[in-house]
Amino acid sequence: MLDLPGFFAPFILYAGILALHVLLPARRVAGYVRDPATGEPLSYRLNGLPVLFAAVLAWVIVGWLGWLPFDWLYHHRWASLAGACTIGLGFTLAIVLPAPATGKSLAADLFLGRLENPQLRGPTGPVDAKMVLYLIGAVMLALNLLSFAAHHAMTYPEDPSVGVLIYVGLLGFFLTEYLLFERVHLYTYDLFAERVGFKLGWGCLSFYPYFYVVGLWGLADRPNPHASPLLGAVAIAVFFSGWSLARGANMQKFTFKIDPARVFLGVLRPEVITDGRRSLLCSGFWAVSRHVNYLGEILMATGLALALGYPSSPWPWLYPLYYVALLVPRERDDDRRCAAKYGDLWTAYRQRVRWRIIPGVY
Ligand code: NDP
Repeated sequence: MLDLPGFFAPFILYAGILALHVLLPARRVAGYVRDPATGEPLSYRLNGLPVLFAAVLAWVIVGWLGWLPFDWLYHHRWASLAGACTIGLGFTLAIVLPAPATGKSLAADLFLGRLENPQLRGPTGPVDAKMVLYLIGAVMLALNLLSFAAHHAMTYPEDPSVGVLIYVGLLGFFLTEYLLFERVHLYTYDLFAERVGFKLGWGCLSFYPYFYVVGLWGLADRPNPHASPLLGAVAIAVFFSGWSLARGANMQKFTFKIDPARVFLGVLRPEVITDGRRSLLCSGFWAVSRHVNYLGEILMATGLALALGYPSSPWPWLYPLYYVALLVPRERDDDRRCAAKYGDLWTAYRQRVRWRIIPGVY
């Protein structure tokens, strides 16, 4: 039987998140990407955290008043995923087809996109397609996470799993801190090197909010595994060591890009390799490997997989596996891009920092 409420739920939720983004107060910041027409940095309105808190508050109120059960999104997850996929596909066609072709095949244009950084003039300022896509993905992921965890708690009220609590805490932290550091995202590959097509559009609207919670998707209705507290402690330790690497490397590079002489965290003095015109950081996190931040993301995902307390189930491991599949080719792409952009300087940097992602291994 067709589950129409589930199918249309993401249509309503995504419209609500967009409305919150447009209406709630926001910081205005200049980005890293420049407008090709004027040469000026693009302007952004950032309010990810208030949007997340407002959406979660609305979810709590709706559940509290009994309008919908707290685990409604869990029960409707397949239809909701189908709705989100439909939105992702519709968005892809609407953003790609009217735009000028890049000269590649139509399939490549549909997949990778044609427009680099589309922005609309909203009533309160610019609405940036990429940042809105990431925001919608993040907020919907948070609602799925809470609903899936609520399903577990409502199914096993006498004996809920501590692992689910740890998982919600870690993934909730991942989302909250991503939105807290939303501005740093303006300095990443997605913003300066990717266009908006299926990969980014469908990825943010369908894949990100549904797949990133795959551990609970598979295990929310399983009973408390009574896993050893040591496993929970290891999960938390692995997650936060990954977070230190990813956030540390990203913040060090962000600090360097906005103020090349600034000492990071008061201790990491920037050492650079330079051709006199351009410089690359080669101290601190950027001396360990050329993408130690990717290692950090994979470790965070591993911590999440361990947290649920079912280490022999394949479900939670799909998440770190996905990161390996995403980030290994991405490092190769970025390496090619940097080799083209920096030339001999990149070759010298490669000689100085030998490892791609995992120091001593790869
Ligand atoms: P990076 O933040 O590593 O950015 C790479 C760019 O940084 C290069 O293209 C180059 O750009 C610049 N750069 C590279 N080396 C140096 C150096 N030594 N000194 C100065 N600048 C340098 O990668 P991403 O943008 O891919 O990732 C950003 C973050 O997002 C990472 O933590 C990543 O793991 C995370 N991420 C998270 C995902 C998720 O789903 N959670 C998915 C994908 C990424 P320039 O032209 O500016 O010099």
